[in-house]
Amino acid sequence: MSSLTIRAYPDPVLKGECAPVETITDEVRRLLDDMAETMYLNSGIGLAAPQVGERSRLIVVDAQRGEEGDTLLKLVNPRIVEKQGETKSEEGCLSCPDLLVEVNRFESVTVEALLPDGKETTIEAEGLLAICLQHEIDHLDGVLLVDRLSSLRRTLYHKKRVKEDAKPADEGDESRRTNTAL
Ligand SMILES: [Zn+2]
Repeated sequence: MSSLTIRAYPDPVLKGECAPVETITDEVRRLLDDMAETMYLNSGIGLAAPQVGERSRLIVVDAQRGEEGDTLLKLVNPRIVEKQGETKSEEGCLSCPDLLVEVNRFESVTVEALLPDGKETTIEAEGLLAICLQHEIDHLDGVLLVDRLSSLRRTLYHKKRVKEDAKPADEGDESRRTNTAL
């Protein structure tokens, strides 16, 4: 496994819809493993393929990190098939450094996806896992936390990020570690 570089806003790879995975090859499985390693290294609880520069419908999620049991999910072509209730969540994103946004989410969701071995799976999620799945599936449709800001806040954040991008990478790193989650 190897860790990958996380792409940050306004990298264009984060915009637009990702393509469904047609065949789960060894390359796809390797990418999922690398995404999981990258997520853990960056103290995240979820990561979507476009965040590492790949426009494929792949996500990894581990909402129980640090607790017992193997709770890592590696999902191919995940889609929400049922949703219930409403909740608000304050979310950060590994691709949107220094940003916390209150987002309206469904309280519980049912997600259908393929596992790395090609088997179908159905996940009935609530709480943090449900929020995490919704956030990552948003990424696959090119939706970022930035898109949920008012136009004024979005403009300010955009200016700040463009300035940060111009700095050498190591200067941005420390701030990138705060508020990161998904
Ligand atoms: Zn995110």
